[in-house]
Amino acid sequence: MRWSQTFVPTLKESPSDAEITSHKLLLRAGLVRKLTGGLYTFLPMGLRVLRKIEQIIREEMNRAGGIEVLMPALQPPEIWQQSGRYETARDVLFKVKDSAQREWVLGPTHEEVITHLAASEINSYRQMPKNFYQIQTKFRDEIRPRFGLMRAKEFIMKDAYSFDATDEGAMASYRRMYDAYTRIFSRCGLKAFPVEADTGVIGGNYSHEFMVPAETGENDVVYCETSGYAANIEKATSRGPLLVTPSASTGAAPEKFATPGVVTIEALTAAPYGVEAHRQIKTLVYVADSDVILILLRGDDQLNEAKLMARTGAIQVRPATPEECASTLGARPGSLGAVAGVPAKVKVYADDALRGASGMVTGANDDGFHYRHVDIERDIRVGQWADFRTVRAGELAVASGQPLKIRRAIEVGHVFKLGTKYSEKMGAMFLAESGQRFPCVMGCYGIGVTRTLQAVIEQCHDDNGISWPLGVAPYQVCLTPLSVMAGSQPLVQAEKLYAELTAAGIEVLIDDRDERPGVKFKDSELVGFPLRVNLGEKSLAKGEIEIKPRNGAMFAVPIDQATTRVLEWLRQQAAPAVG
Ligand code: ATP
Ligand code: MG
Repeated sequence: MRWSQTFVPTLKESPSDAEITSHKLLLRAGLVRKLTGGLYTFLPMGLRVLRKIEQIIREEMNRAGGIEVLMPALQPPEIWQQSGRYETARDVLFKVKDSAQREWVLGPTHEEVITHLAASEINSYRQMPKNFYQIQTKFRDEIRPRFGLMRAKEFIMKDAYSFDATDEGAMASYRRMYDAYTRIFSRCGLKAFPVEADTGVIGGNYSHEFMVPAETGENDVVYCETSGYAANIEKATSRGPLLVTPSASTGAAPEKFATPGVVTIEALTAAPYGVEAHRQIKTLVYVADSDVILILLRGDDQLNEAKLMARTGAIQVRPATPEECASTLGARPGSLGAVAGVPAKVKVYADDALRGASGMVTGANDDGFHYRHVDIERDIRVGQWADFRTVRAGELAVASGQPLKIRRAIEVGHVFKLGTKYSEKMGAMFLAESGQRFPCVMGCYGIGVTRTLQAVIEQCHDDNGISWPLGVAPYQVCLTPLSVMAGSQPLVQAEKLYAELTAAGIEVLIDDRDERPGVKFKDSELVGFPLRVNLGEKSLAKGEIEIKPRNGAMFAVPIDQATTRVLEWLRQQAAPAVG
């Protein structure tokens, strides 16, 4: 391909609305252009990378036994009602009306469509296992689309759905996808690692996310270097807070005391009260679906809402408003507690870190008052104990007892054992060997293809621009003749090299623009081709060309060896064998 005949609108400056490096480079390298927030057009270089990532995914999915299909993006709302997600996923569902005012849904994911298909097509255990996948556009009504392709309203996903007759079969399908994902990200040149994940709104019972470490990621990953434990913070557990609250039981009954104007944990730690945060019981009022509930945490801990949803089974949780707090407990946030005045219908959840806590201080459900000498197991009607707190760095891993670390990461993929949640709701039943009918055991597996593309940039760049891993580069080689005058040696030699490399199956872009060398060099580094070959009058006069790896030092080679040396370099760089 000739640079002059394709379209690579590079930019010297970063557009001001690009927030993170990979987003800036996407735009500066002319890979995409924004239509409006969360919607992007792929330009030729971006599209080539996208197609390469898709191809890697396709090859690995096929190798793992996946069967490619293509499902409609436009879906009838009935199947969403049937699965129950018309309500539970309503925040992300794009809905459109046709001319008869009939409503349709734009698919954010395809469990409903595939389970509908399975319900009519899979009837016997003999037809399983099956794993259907597609690479397709998804629509999500993200409240805050941002960071370019990272969180878009419309994006490309590879989604796969496995159907098995038994739980063991489903585990094996899950494992195959887990392994395929490891290969896919490695072939894309990405360092991505699996972490245990919360199962969220999709439901189900077993899940891993594939994470790319990056400061700009939207996830916190908790990990232990000794044991290899790694989990999304939404799911992560530890041996508990490092600071243990010693028992301070005096045997005294709870005693109310005045704390005028004190509405925060910090204010109660200060003089004249001096109650350390870990001696306080923090009382949070939440609305879980439609129930008002209380969650008690140690004053120095933070609630983990994903755990709250998992433990209560609620589909939606939110903090109660000050008015709701007042009408439930008779006081406003800052003075809330569970010692007295909790209506019988309000369930009280308490975090495990509070087990056995005595000599504690908590709100008295009376604005401006607290209780002291509170012994939680004696004085509070706890309905359920569980782990509700957010793990902090430095706490000890459950298995190894070694300190946990936390780092930011980008979620690029997600594998999920669904069980029979969808097959039961949507009637995807099969006849087992025993003659009985059972629901299919399902798994679902997603890769954000467009997000993965940007994650590669986030991981592979330097001050000069992108540095594509060979496996996903838009072109492997950029030939840069420093003169493009018809008949000039640089152009003639470049054309010859172009023909030879192309014949050898290499993807080559020839920068035939009539630009200064500096401009061409800068652009090729910005777009990030793994290898550039400079063809200049001076070095050609010496019988040489220059090879400049994107991440390495330039070296000169005799012109008659140019093709072999380029091929040799590419061979050496080829992604290390995986699996
Ligand atoms: P997130 O937590 O980032 O919103 P998710 O967990 O809702 O993502 P899944 O339903 O697991 O996403 O979708 C599978 C994959 O699709 C994700 O791992 C991610 O790579 C990608 N993805 C999800 N939402 C978006 C989006 N708005 N824009 C781009 N890619 C996305
Ligand atoms: Mg996910």
